[in-house]
Amino acid sequence: MSVNYNGIALVLNCGSSSIKYQVVDTTADAPLASGLVERVTDHNEGVRAVIETLSQPDSGVDLSRLTVVGHRVVQGGAEFTAPTIITDEVVDHIAKLAVLAPLHNPGHVSGIEAARHAFPDLPHVAVFDTAFHATLTEAAYSYAIDPHIAREHGIRRYGFHGTSHGYVSREVARVMGRDAKGLRVITAHLGNGASIDAIKDGIAIDTSMGLTPLEGLVMGTRSGDLDPAVIFHLHRAAGLSIDEIDELLNKKSGLLGLAGSNDMRDVRKAAAEGSHEAQVALEVYTRRIKGYVGRYMALLGGLDAIVFTAGVGENADAIRELSLAGLEELGIEVDPVRNEGRCTEPTLISTDASRVQVWVIPTNEEREIALQSIAAVS
Ligand code: AMP
Repeated sequence: MSVNYNGIALVLNCGSSSIKYQVVDTTADAPLASGLVERVTDHNEGVRAVIETLSQPDSGVDLSRLTVVGHRVVQGGAEFTAPTIITDEVVDHIAKLAVLAPLHNPGHVSGIEAARHAFPDLPHVAVFDTAFHATLTEAAYSYAIDPHIAREHGIRRYGFHGTSHGYVSREVARVMGRDAKGLRVITAHLGNGASIDAIKDGIAIDTSMGLTPLEGLVMGTRSGDLDPAVIFHLHRAAGLSIDEIDELLNKKSGLLGLAGSNDMRDVRKAAAEGSHEAQVALEVYTRRIKGYVGRYMALLGGLDAIVFTAGVGENADAIRELSLAGLEELGIEVDPVRNEGRCTEPTLISTDASRVQVWVIPTNEEREIALQSIAAVS
């Protein structure tokens, strides 16, 4: 979308028990302010705490100059495919979508209501994590189940981290000096949650997360892909309830389940010190990424660029290297020297001989939400 508007946005990411915020002036590179309020039991109080902090004389923010409040919303279902100005009806809709995102949407709704109460004269805009994936074709978003059941219960691939995939895919075209049209890109968002996209002509054609953020890559605490029969087996043979399995796969699996920590820094350290579990965890993690790269190259019919982003993607050189090791025959060659260390700005890490360019591009979801929110009310 076109994002050539200027303004100042308060960007809110309201979780069930925390509120992350940032104040973004689109004419400045760095945010005016950012922070996190934790252990929120009442979102009205949480939003009040944010306002109190931002009202301090040294906060760098003049709240009376805000243009808009932008809200990150994880699940927008099939209905919300673009940033949307929030009305009572929109809030009702987001609340109804909680059936698809029980861990996320209820917190968003309380946060939005509290923020609308605190800033009644400002426009509020919802920016959906799912929206970037609205371009998936029916074949790309359908699971192979009875379509009547699927439709009745909204069972399909929605995809998440869309704000980040959209942002870094546009950025890579910019730094390559190419038009998004004609460009085939794989974007790997590797944070505590992780997902990978295939993007052609600037449009998402596939994504690894599905009905919920549980599917796909190995994550900090989520298993990613597994045989759905594991769930029946855990229920029938191990006697776990559905809620216990939900918790196991969403909160106690991934790196945490495999190696005892959801933080890649700990897992890398343990692997270097000889922990077998940590070494296997790194292999499972990077093998999964490599498998998706191959799958997406086939779906894209070739590849021009791969982008790594988010906490692990921006900081963990060994993960980038292992994920793409041995792909020289496919035209992918990471340069060990260019790849070394953390990247705080767009960095080319492939060799000059590599047919596919490999980039690290720091993501900036808050700025993107600010830009999209301002554009929506301009
Ligand atoms: P995010 O969700 O994008 O904030 O990413 C958070 C995750 O990034 C953490 O849980 C770590 O696993 C990972 N991370 C952050 N810094 C580093 C680092 N220097 N090396 C390896 N992993 C890191």
